[in-house]
Amino acid sequence: MESIVEQNLGEIFYENLKAIGDTEMIAMINKDNNEKISYRELFVASLKTACKLKDLGIKEGDVVGIVSDNRLEYIVPVLACFYLRAIIHPTNSSYHLTELKHAYSKSKPKIIFTSNDEIGNVVQLQNETDYIKEIINFDDNYLDIVEWGAILESIEKSSDCDKKTAAIVSSSGTTGHPKSVVLTQGNLKFTMSNFKYLILSYSSESTGIGILPFYHMFGLMQTITILNCRAKIVILSKFEPVSFCEIIEKYNVHLLLIVPTIADFLAKHPIVDKYNFKSVNDIVCAGAALGYEIQTILEKKFNCAVRQGYGMTETGVATVCVLGKKCKLGSCGTPVPGVEIEVIDAQTKNTLGPNEPGEICVKSVQVMKEYLGNPEATRATIDERGFLHTGDIGYFDEDGDFFIVDRLKDLIKYKSFQVSPAELEDVLKSHNEITDAGVIGVPDGRAGELPMAFVVKVKNCKLSEQNVIDYVAERISVHKQLHGGVRFVDDLPKNSTGKLLRKKLREML
Ligand code: AMP
Repeated sequence: MESIVEQNLGEIFYENLKAIGDTEMIAMINKDNNEKISYRELFVASLKTACKLKDLGIKEGDVVGIVSDNRLEYIVPVLACFYLRAIIHPTNSSYHLTELKHAYSKSKPKIIFTSNDEIGNVVQLQNETDYIKEIINFDDNYLDIVEWGAILESIEKSSDCDKKTAAIVSSSGTTGHPKSVVLTQGNLKFTMSNFKYLILSYSSESTGIGILPFYHMFGLMQTITILNCRAKIVILSKFEPVSFCEIIEKYNVHLLLIVPTIADFLAKHPIVDKYNFKSVNDIVCAGAALGYEIQTILEKKFNCAVRQGYGMTETGVATVCVLGKKCKLGSCGTPVPGVEIEVIDAQTKNTLGPNEPGEICVKSVQVMKEYLGNPEATRATIDERGFLHTGDIGYFDEDGDFFIVDRLKDLIKYKSFQVSPAELEDVLKSHNEITDAGVIGVPDGRAGELPMAFVVKVKNCKLSEQNVIDYVAERISVHKQLHGGVRFVDDLPKNSTGKLLRKKLREML
């Protein structure tokens, strides 16, 4: 593994981009509109953006938000913030206003970068709060920012940044509403170094695909790591089957970094057979559980290893991964370098041995600093020995290979997106004909899990299941909607202190 360098994130990218020099080597291509950005252009734009941010008063420790789908410009403010040691806070681009307001309620970004599709919500957020000084729209010819004039000439060197916050990202955590995960420079540097280790085969000759959302750590870390390898990335704003297949064929993509929903598509969709995927010789799939059947089909179809990975936003995504080419069916492999894992009995807290399922606990430089403004949740997640309790149940076998088998926490994973049941229950309970609600994930072969609600409605009211589904759809982003349907019940199973027993709801299914 590459040793963890002394430089801070800004220096790493600044030095690398500067060294590429004046060549027109392409960094990114947007498959949606065929626009391209070279490494030199990326460097200049990031230096100009850093200057602009400085002019707007952004300094070390200030937060800059990004609300946008994947696009060429997205990475520019990320790099600019790295140079200034400001903090990036990307959020889900499909958030409704209330979700956006919640996401930014603690980090309070001073500047938000956004696009035409999302600017309406961002402007409304600015009107309803007092922390947003300026909104910068990527669609306002952002890359032609020549008039911004000034260019950041150099960046401050400092090697004592590892404990300083570099990014804030949303995660559901183990229970309750989505929380803001605070990741330091050290966390990101270490994760990047592990990503590099996982994708050793990338070089300036390779092309990767930027399909996973950049606001999620898996998508963001993958993208910046590939850029740091000086490879090319072809991006898509949203997953689109034909474009995805065309990219693989046209650019001879050899390594696919995907989530299980895309694995499912590659295994089963007839369109895949129309393309020449001979270049693909390695597949890494992470973000949610990969079914045995899909793994087997893919291995046969592509005649290559399908390496499963496991991790969570709080543990720097790449935490456990199959590192060689030999995969055991269903295994996520072994801890990546620098990661220590204990499996503990959830009740007794005793450390367990091989083949004994228990809660996966992770200790590593990659592990987040805290949940922003939520010391209670941080204490409940990271114990005094520094182990982060993931809320996932798994075990390791006699070879040290890990298997994830279940989940202790409430988090639902719909197409690898986090869905917090508590957040959906709050929306449901805000309906004046709903007295109580409980949400769980229903297992689904394609999406992983589908959010589904048990609803107690006001007696004799006319509320239908479709009314409930529509009510939620109007208030919450698409991946959190009730794709698993609604079931009306007379009451919900609760314990003596009134806590909803989701396990009982699962049994009721
Ligand atoms: P996120 O923070 O969005 O990356 O979500 C992390 C959660 O996704 C983990 O805590 C697991 O519950 C789930 N997850 C990620 N990778 C896997 C995997 N390979 N197998 C099963 N569950 C996974």
